[in-house]
Amino acid sequence: MNYFFSEFEEAVKNLFSDYVDKRIIPMRKELEDKHEFPHGLFKEMAKQDFFRIMVPEEYGGMSDSQMQLILGIEELSRGDAGIGVSFAVDAIATKGLILYGSKEQKEKYLPGIADGNIITAFSLSEPGAGSDAAALKTRAVKKGDKYVLNGVKQFITNGEVADIVMVIAVTDPDKGHKGHTAFIVEKGTNGFSTGKREDKMGIRSSVTNELLFDDCEVPEENIVGEIGQGFYIAMGLLDRSRIGIGAQALGIAQAALDEATQYSKTREQFAQPIHSFQAVGHMLADMATQIEASRLLVYQAARLVDAGEKELTKISAMSKLFPSDMAMKVTTDAVQIFGGYGYMKEYPVERLMRDAKVTQIYEGTNQIQRNIIVDRLIKGK
Ligand SMILES: Cc1cc2nc3c(=O)[nH]c(=O)nc-3n(C[C@H](O)[C@H](O)[C@H](O)COP(=O)(O)OP(=O)(O)OC[C@H]3O[C@@H](n4cnc5c(N)ncnc54)[C@H](O)[C@@H]3O)c2cc1C
Repeated sequence: MNYFFSEFEEAVKNLFSDYVDKRIIPMRKELEDKHEFPHGLFKEMAKQDFFRIMVPEEYGGMSDSQMQLILGIEELSRGDAGIGVSFAVDAIATKGLILYGSKEQKEKYLPGIADGNIITAFSLSEPGAGSDAAALKTRAVKKGDKYVLNGVKQFITNGEVADIVMVIAVTDPDKGHKGHTAFIVEKGTNGFSTGKREDKMGIRSSVTNELLFDDCEVPEENIVGEIGQGFYIAMGLLDRSRIGIGAQALGIAQAALDEATQYSKTREQFAQPIHSFQAVGHMLADMATQIEASRLLVYQAARLVDAGEKELTKISAMSKLFPSDMAMKVTTDAVQIFGGYGYMKEYPVERLMRDAKVTQIYEGTNQIQRNIIVDRLIKGK
């Protein structure tokens, strides 16, 4: 299939793909069983210059093209969706700094992110504020030239391993979502700690934590963008990062198709390979077609970002919704093609089905994506 990649995009895809085949796929069972952040692999990925595709050249990166980023996320997720999401989330706060950060913030953090020495997290959700992201309770109160943060963030990817976290907090409770502000909080800041690590259904090589802020003093210069811009910054970043979740879903679904196709050639019943039964063959054909349709949608959304399109909300919601529903279906069908073996942990497809589920939930559930799409349709956007 020709996706009209540039030479550089082709090289990025091949770099990630080779690494996934050589290093991640052989380790995926161990990664799932350990349920720990794979620090060793992240160091290796840094040596491969993977993090440089998130950062512009002037700050030690290679580019900050959305297309290259999603090619990286898709390939990593084909190997292990936990690594895929840890990488994808690292790119969210990074993008926040690129788009909204001050010159000083960019100079301070972006070179370390490009080198892979600084891992980031993006912290919006709270126990009472998930789909309703405007219902935040975490408070940031000005005290001299500092802000004092108090509150709890929930389900934060990379939480316990992040060197810096972008935190959205309420600076003016009377202004609703117009009273939210984005801050960078560094690991080791007094009053900032990591709470429990969640025990998850899937993506078990990623870590998901509570973050606790207890009179945590953050210098004023750590505000990202303007006071009161936090909600808009978060939504602007999600418009881009949802395309990455679409790419993660693609990688998971592609892995399931690869496994199911191979298995259908070797498993025999009634003295013939199971792909020769039309019921199985047609399932494989539908899986491949749905993946291809999703891929074109995700790549189109990425191309629009790189072309400077301003109205991204609808296309990015679509590019998360369709591939994640597709990945759930494709991975479920892959388990079906494996029959009883598919239900066993010895084979990779049950893990892929568990991994696919979360892509319908995070960065806005698929119900919320449908709400966003219909809202834009009705407004004629
Ligand atoms: C593994 C994992 C990692 C995550 N990582 C991060 C992270 O790094 N940073 C971060 O900030 N957050 C993160 N999240 C949080 C995630 O974005 C939220 O879980 C998600 O937005 C849903 O919020 P909720 O869990 O509170 O569900 P709720 O909002 O309570 O939703 C419950 C149900 O109600 C439905 N619902 C709610 N409102 C509506 C509505 N208006 N219309 C229709 N249906 C509705 C939902 O679709 C869902 O089915 C992560 C979550 C998970 C599971």
